[in-house]
Amino acid sequence: MEATSTRDATGGTGGRSVLVRLDGELLPFVAPRNRVESIRVPHDGTASLGHLVQSLGVPLTEVGQLRLDGAPVAATERAAAGGVLDVAPVRFPERIRQRFVLDVHLGALARRMRLLGIDTAYHNDATDEELLDQAARQRGVLLTRDRALLCRRALSEGAYVHASDPAEQQSEVLARFEPTLRPWTRCVPCGGELEEVPKAEVAARLEFGTRRCYQRFARCTACGRIYWPGAHSPGLRRIVESARHRPARPDRRGGEPG
Ligand SMILES: [Zn+2]
Repeated sequence: MEATSTRDATGGTGGRSVLVRLDGELLPFVAPRNRVESIRVPHDGTASLGHLVQSLGVPLTEVGQLRLDGAPVAATERAAAGGVLDVAPVRFPERIRQRFVLDVHLGALARRMRLLGIDTAYHNDATDEELLDQAARQRGVLLTRDRALLCRRALSEGAYVHASDPAEQQSEVLARFEPTLRPWTRCVPCGGELEEVPKAEVAARLEFGTRRCYQRFARCTACGRIYWPGAHSPGLRRIVESARHRPARPDRRGGEPG
């Protein structure tokens, strides 16, 4: 069984290389043929250790401490050939930011995060360049299921979303970043913040039944959409409840990286 062996990725020539030992949690990022306890990676001494790790398919956003021959080392450092590099997974929680930029395939997760009051930028037609630019300008964490995007040099902060199911994605993001939850304070379609507004100001825009049954109203400061507290659907309430009562340590790995 290959899983307990050392694989030689130097093309069998031996040559100059670094022996990389990836933590088991990082192996799903690696091509199946390279999913072994330790792998010999060609290294000419010019690439950084971070580049070496990413060359195996593991985005640095998912990597925690690096140790070279047992000593902690930065991803930007270079190593002489012949060393042994141990790669640990990123440690949770990572309370780095309270603002997030979501990739185009994460629309359902974006709506959930906004419902929970998390600052979430999402446009279903954003290009990779726009996502990277927005994350950098807004100092947000880019969430994606695209490994290649996380390996881009222009990326500042990012994270891989393992799960494909939106409920599991929500659990993953909450466990990893522990963002402050403020349910019902943001506009779900656009992400803008809501402000209370006097009924008289919005009455003309309400349907008769709504005008009659509700007294308190909120308006999106970005798009002007009007909300009335108490009118939330059971489905939305369940999402908020699941976030408030999430298990302390949910499974941190949901699926195979794409
Ligand atoms: Zn809005």
